[in-house]
Amino acid sequence: MSEAIHQDVYQWLEQRNPNQNEFNQAVTALFDDLIPLVAENREYQRQQVLKRLTEPDRIISFRVVWEDDNGELHVNRGYRVQHCGLLGPYKGGIRFHPLVNESVLKFLAFEQTFKNALTNLPLGGGKGGADFDPKGRSDREIMRFCQAYMNELYRHIGENTDVPAGDINVGSREIGFLFGQYRRLANKFSGTFTGKNIEFGGSHVRMEATGFGLIYFVENMLKKSGESLADKDVAISGAGNVALHAALKAAEKKARVITLSNSHGSLYCIGGIEHSIIEKLLDSSARPDLEQLAHDIGGHWREGEKPWNVACDIALPCGTQNELDEDDAKQLVNQGCQILAEGANMPCTIKAIDILNNAKIANAPGKASNAGGVALSGLEMSQNASFTSLSYEELDEKLNGIMHSIHQQCVDHGNTIDGWVNYRKGANIAAFNRLAASMLSQGIA
Ligand code: NDP
Repeated sequence: MSEAIHQDVYQWLEQRNPNQNEFNQAVTALFDDLIPLVAENREYQRQQVLKRLTEPDRIISFRVVWEDDNGELHVNRGYRVQHCGLLGPYKGGIRFHPLVNESVLKFLAFEQTFKNALTNLPLGGGKGGADFDPKGRSDREIMRFCQAYMNELYRHIGENTDVPAGDINVGSREIGFLFGQYRRLANKFSGTFTGKNIEFGGSHVRMEATGFGLIYFVENMLKKSGESLADKDVAISGAGNVALHAALKAAEKKARVITLSNSHGSLYCIGGIEHSIIEKLLDSSARPDLEQLAHDIGGHWREGEKPWNVACDIALPCGTQNELDEDDAKQLVNQGCQILAEGANMPCTIKAIDILNNAKIANAPGKASNAGGVALSGLEMSQNASFTSLSYEELDEKLNGIMHSIHQQCVDHGNTIDGWVNYRKGANIAAFNRLAASMLSQGIA
């Protein structure tokens, strides 16, 4: 039975989504874990649960025209993928990057749906963005682009329908511009965005939540074998929101953060980057100059190199999708890495995951280990809806509790006979159970 379902759904997937490599990669990785479950359940088969979970509720695509500081007009393409509304309003970030296309956003919205299900909060899954490159653009150009993007998006979102947040190149400055334009066009002040500044409805801990949550998740992985983060060597890729907050929390827990990176190369510091240095990087609104930093702190700048060829106990890819391939995974295994947890969405290729699994390296998928951000977004939404504001400490504790619960769900559904935890399988099954139950209860649509 498994074989027949396998053939049917994969053929269907390929025919419907030609050349959408990222989307097909994300769906394939998930189907492999779910097909055995579906093969045992006639109702899942009859109800076409896999196909219905794969096809987005809707995809909105639109033209974005904006004017640069020299008066020249530019035309970009904006999107919002509303993937699945079974569990609540669509929820997921907005990404501005020249490589954004429908396949990338469909994969992110699909992953987001399963991630949000793991939080046990009432959140559906979505993702949006534009193929706009903000690098080198002035503040006013960024503002004009955000406003132009929102001129169309505003009619598709709302506090009970779709609640966007930030993602790559969309931080608090962009959220401010997007929220401001939404408020003017919709003529209402509502919790339609998360990641807002604290002055206008934002939540404590939201900015830190993905990186901090990642470290809380890793602590749970370590606790399984009675270990802690103290004195562990941690290799991190990226130097943005997720990477730097993960680095900060890891350093606070007395781990040594030995790498950071960006799209040009990586910084290696064998003694670990100090907590106070990471704090300074976070205080600055500019992207960190890692090459300069390497020089300042006596580290090494490795032009064009990824951070995976160094000896480390823990690897945290926090940059972008498919940044860690088969060769990188082999290097990590050979260098003694014990744990990998994804801060970014789908940073490991399928072949890299095979290498890690075969070597029995505990490796956690982003939908579980980076779910802290969306979990805190859920808490920001409930604070907005009830006109309340929780303290930093209360929210940090809640975040810690949610990451513990997600870890437990992975263990419950991913334990193997020899005691090794297949975190990916565990996360996929736990999320699927919640989504499938909701789908069957809500009727055919
Ligand atoms: P940012 O825009 O703040 O930072 C992205 C960082 O990644 C930059 O330092 C960028 O460097 C670097 N980067 C880009 N490409 C590569 C690459 N090929 N190799 C190494 N580094 C690279 O984004 P976020 O930190 O917000 O997001 C990072 C990842 O985490 C994304 O996959 C995102 O989807 C995911 N995520 C984010 C959440 C959030 O709350 N922000 C929530 C959950 C997941 P450069 O400046 O050179 O481009």
